[in-house]
Amino acid sequence: MANVIAAIEALADAVIANKERLTELDAVIGDADHGINMARGFEAVRGKLAAANPADIGGALKMIGMTLISTVGGASGPLYGTAFMRAAAAVQGKTTIDAETAATMLNAVIGGVKDRGKAVRGEKTMLDALEPAYEAFVEQLNQGQSLLVCLEAATAAAEQGVEYTKTIIATKGRASYLGERSIGHQDAGATSSYLMLSVLTDFARQ
Ligand code: ADP
Ligand code: MG
Ligand code: MG
Repeated sequence: MANVIAAIEALADAVIANKERLTELDAVIGDADHGINMARGFEAVRGKLAAANPADIGGALKMIGMTLISTVGGASGPLYGTAFMRAAAAVQGKTTIDAETAATMLNAVIGGVKDRGKAVRGEKTMLDALEPAYEAFVEQLNQGQSLLVCLEAATAAAEQGVEYTKTIIATKGRASYLGERSIGHQDAGATSSYLMLSVLTDFARQ
């Protein structure tokens, strides 16, 4: 579990370090708070981590999900909160993660975001990073590749997904108020999803 705690700390640190960048992206087509929201949530996660002393990965992810729901606010709080809760349910009792389990978790994350936010791919949301990431992950998994190779493919696909959000109109969330004027700007939530995947990939590489 020491590994898992270290991974969560790396995740929290990266979100906090990217607070300004994520907020700047949200300032262009939203209300300039995505980084602030996410950093607030992950600061709370970091604060709870030592005392929480989770027995398994499911417990750790459940703590994250509940903390994000109660501290983040905005659209992203319930969305990411639900995502982490669903991922937690997929790994109950486990203390290590293999590639197959990670695929199940990523799929659960996407299911949570969709159930909660009623968006589909192509609406300029975090799903435009997460869904291509999942597909790329599974493609590598089906070829028998390692967790790291699967994660690397997923992160590369998420990065392309972020680029793709620049080309489309937002039809969910605050950016949808801008209609066509949202074109040309990347989605903050897709960017935070990519960021989290890339941090976990870097962690797996160590
Ligand atoms: P708010 O929009 O309430 O200020 P944030 O700025 O923290 O919340 O989060 C905005 C991000 O949430 C968007 O960039 C987008 O990726 C994501 N988002 C918004 N609505 C939805 C939705 N219905 N489904 C999936 N993601 C969404
Ligand atoms: Mg916002
Ligand atoms: Mg807001």
